[in-house]
Amino acid sequence: MSDATAARVLEAKGRVVAPGFIDIHSHNELYIIRDDYRELFESYLRQGITSCVVSNCGWSLAPWPREHGDLFRSTLHSMGVSSSFQPEWETQGEFLGWLRRRGLPLNFVPLSAHGPIRIAVMGSQARFSTPEELERMKVMVRRDMEAGCRGFSTGLTYFPGMYAHTDELVELARVAGEYGGRYVTHVRSLTDTFDRAVEEAVEIAERSGSSLQISHFMCVPNLGWTADLVYAAVDVLEKIT
Ligand SMILES: [Zn+2]
Repeated sequence: MSDATAARVLEAKGRVVAPGFIDIHSHNELYIIRDDYRELFESYLRQGITSCVVSNCGWSLAPWPREHGDLFRSTLHSMGVSSSFQPEWETQGEFLGWLRRRGLPLNFVPLSAHGPIRIAVMGSQARFSTPEELERMKVMVRRDMEAGCRGFSTGLTYFPGMYAHTDELVELARVAGEYGGRYVTHVRSLTDTFDRAVEEAVEIAERSGSSLQISHFMCVPNLGWTADLVYAAVDVLEKIT
């Protein structure tokens, strides 16, 4: 220890030293708004986790859509966010500014999330996007990336991501990829059709040029209805569009 010149020196003899761990899949943006968030995050710090990636599975609290606000709020309510919650932001940049002022107990790595963006542009419409709608979504992903997001996330077994055509996701992931961001996806099936869902994720990464992260890499056979429903919806949309 005698040659140390650092401003602060910790005596770690006999201990294991590791860099802070990173939780690459969290939904902590939903918890940071709670009054007791410091207590909630204490378990992270006790495990040595100092950074977490947030806004996974196509969901985030930003951008907060000006249009379709009631729909957005009711969808958030199903994730445990109080329906009386009043955000102090609209854009991703404003949200990240709010997080900084909030005083984060650990580092947040934000993703641009498909859900709020699709709701802002298309509301609850159960159909593929038009070229004009897709352009508007691309502008919003670009704005998120400019604000500091590190990738683009989707949740394709959920509303509204389940209504997106692969081509839509390629275009949006490409914007994230231009900024070095990765495509992070809760794929379209975690059950019998998992292979088809993984093929789609790989296709999106290859066509968009983004690197790929598959969330929940798992397959539960015979889970049944969720994937059947999602693929039934996509296949019907494919026929009528
Ligand atoms: Zn998920």
